[in-house]
This record gives sequence, C-alpha cells and structure tokens, in this order.
Amino acid sequence: MSGSVYKHQCPDCGHAVRVRNSTGLSALVRACYLQCLNLGCGATFKATTEITHRLSPPAIPNPAIHLPMADLAMLKCASGDSTDNQLDFDELLEPH
Ligand SMILES: [Zn+2]
Repeated sequence: MSGSVYKHQCPDCGHAVRVRNSTGLSALVRACYLQCLNLGCGATFKATTEITHRLSPPAIPNPAIHLPMADLAMLKCASGDSTDNQLDFDELLEPH
C-alpha cells in the first residue's frame, strides 16, 4: 500500500512523513498512522485529524453534522493567500 505524502514533518529528523494507514473514529475524527520517509530514521507516529469547520456549504448536508463556518482568516489560509506560508524574498536569497 502506498501512503500519501503528508505535510507533517517527522518531529525527530524533520523529513516528510506519509500516512501508512488510517481509522475513522467518528464522522469528523480520524486516527492516522504516519511513517517517516527518511530510511535512516524510520520513526512511526499516530496522529489525529479532525474536521472542525466548513469552508463552503454542502450540496447534500448531513443533518447530524453541526460545524461552524470558517472565518475569513481560515478561508485565506485554505486558499494559500496567507502570508504565513510564503518566504520573504530575502529568505530566498540567503545562502544555506
Ligand atoms: Zn524521521
């Protein structure tokens, strides 16, 4: 089974991790089992993801699901407009 690459990084070595397996705990919560992609590290983790807000209303709403709508800051973050995710031009030019 190939896992998807996850945006999380290994907290030990900093490399990317992938989801190896996941289990639904409820309609809104899922447990994920992560594996570090650095062969020299090999750490594995359990994480939990939770759906907390709606970004847009559903076409087929589930009456049992009650979620708040995202605020403007969340919508900006979801669309990638947040300046938090972008490097400054000076950071790009700094030697590493
Ligand atoms: Zn690692």
